[in-house]
Amino acid sequence: MTRFNGYTLQKRIALGLKHAVESLPQPPTLTILQIGNHPASSMYVKRKQEFGQTIGCKVNIIHLPEQASQTDAEMAIRKQNDDPAVNGIIVQLPMPEHLSNDLLQLIDPKKDVDGLGKDSPFTPATPLAIMEILDDQKIDIAGKHTVVVGRSALVGGPVTRLMQERGARVTVCHSKSGDLTPFTTQADILIVAVGKPNLVTPAMVKAGSVVVNVGGTLGADGQLHGDVDPEAADKASLFTPVPGGVGPVTVGMLFTNLVAAAKEQTSSVKTTFSG
Ligand code: NAP
Repeated sequence: MTRFNGYTLQKRIALGLKHAVESLPQPPTLTILQIGNHPASSMYVKRKQEFGQTIGCKVNIIHLPEQASQTDAEMAIRKQNDDPAVNGIIVQLPMPEHLSNDLLQLIDPKKDVDGLGKDSPFTPATPLAIMEILDDQKIDIAGKHTVVVGRSALVGGPVTRLMQERGARVTVCHSKSGDLTPFTTQADILIVAVGKPNLVTPAMVKAGSVVVNVGGTLGADGQLHGDVDPEAADKASLFTPVPGGVGPVTVGMLFTNLVAAAKEQTSSVKTTFSG
């Protein structure tokens, strides 16, 4: 069994991005809007900020209080849309429940590096990270039966599309699927993005399969717990642990999107000047 190390791949991604950043006239700038105090959010925001700084990007953090209104949040986004020094804007999820997801549609599509707005040209970072891991580990995708547990716009939905584009035969499970075992035990590649610790037990995993454990839930012990029981790793040919698997690669792919956004914005400014 190979236990995938997300930090090793993150370092390789960082190296490539650092070179790309050095070739740009200004450091790419990301604004992270954090609203409220969801327990895991501050940790994720800090990791993004640290990674961005490592590769030479600028990361602004705007932290609004839990009780911020929809108007407060909209104003914060509009201000970042209008700032030409800002290349990318993300809202750290989850937002407080009283706020509408419509907020995400307000982000200027060319700055929407989380890819959650309907006109964004970007794919969300986590599905990109899953594909990057499968390619890094030289996993054949075409023709493989892939079971994706979860169908959100952030992870399950787009990873299903990406796997289908690469020729996988994909079955999607969700909260109404009932017993997951008949599906998961058929999977050559099992991708679990739910947010329920140990939802998938070793008995639910096919021997020799590739298991991508995406969900991460912060427990009362202060540790992140994955959706797949770590004991299932012994049955898998490749297993991504939580923490230290998909998470670090996701951060790398977010900044891959940011650098692409900054490049695109720089070249369109040049075109405007010369045209
Ligand atoms: P989400 O929007 O809450 O979606 C969860 C999905 O799981 C939904 O499609 C839901 O089905 C499904 N689901 C819920 N209970 C289920 C059950 N008992 N059996 C099967 N499916 C079930 O969450 P998300 O944004 O996709 O994130 C999922 C997990 O990934 C979270 O733990 C999140 O923290 C983690 N995550 C990790 C990274 C990373 O970098 N490692 C990045 C993003 C997210 P319905 O559609 O029917 O409701």
